[in-house]
Amino acid sequence: MAKKILVANWKLNPTTPREAKQLFTKIKKQTSGLKRSEVVIAPPAIWLSLLDAGQNRQLSLAGQDAFYESAGAFTGRLSSPMFRYAGATHIIIGHSERRLAGDTDDIINKKIKAALKARLKVIFCFGETERDSRGEYLTVLKNQIKTGLQRIGKDNFKHLIMAYEPVWAIGERAREADTPSDFLHNAIFIKKVLAGIVDRKTALAIPILYGGSVNKKNIGDFLGDGEADGVLVGRASLDATEFGAMIKIAEELK
Ligand code: PEP
Repeated sequence: MAKKILVANWKLNPTTPREAKQLFTKIKKQTSGLKRSEVVIAPPAIWLSLLDAGQNRQLSLAGQDAFYESAGAFTGRLSSPMFRYAGATHIIIGHSERRLAGDTDDIINKKIKAALKARLKVIFCFGETERDSRGEYLTVLKNQIKTGLQRIGKDNFKHLIMAYEPVWAIGERAREADTPSDFLHNAIFIKKVLAGIVDRKTALAIPILYGGSVNKKNIGDFLGDGEADGVLVGRASLDATEFGAMIKIAEELK
């Protein structure tokens, strides 16, 4: 069975290098010896080089976003090759907070291509802002996926991790998480969309994570009943005890 993937998106936290190192060390301890799950931590880029995932294959580092150009007059930007040099093996692209800041599906596609070229594993985030009962949101998902992955070579699909994150379920203002059964339904749709882009076998091998208000109370349901290949966690990943409990649930899942 494939390992469950837990991605911790720290966003603009912790605010000092000392706290970042402390949180990382606490989480790292809880990843030693994992067999059925793996953890990917995405700290603010400036803290990356302070954190050492070591040779521990259950723990990896990620960037939260990377620009599509690798050099030039782009003040404030960071490139995918820079993230690799700083120790990241993964990169989050397309997060709803980056989309809100102006990333279109075409920009996201360029960023994904640049990241794959730099041999980073891409955690591709997408999700609807509103859920309607007629299922029109599925067209939104389809377009995000198709444009985000356009003109990506078949060989690159094995370096992709899909993170389905309904925007209304993310962060402090979220009313609630999605339900595991809705996630399962949507994940089947996502697999179908992927199978229309690459061959079925390649499509079915791509992990599909759920993100949006996941915590220690609901992670078991998403990984179990929802059959998610993993989760992308914001708030709950900033508490080492809570996140540690989540890792344990993923590891011990029957
Ligand atoms: C996110 O921002 O991607 C996220 C899932 O956040 P939270 O877990 O806090 O809802």
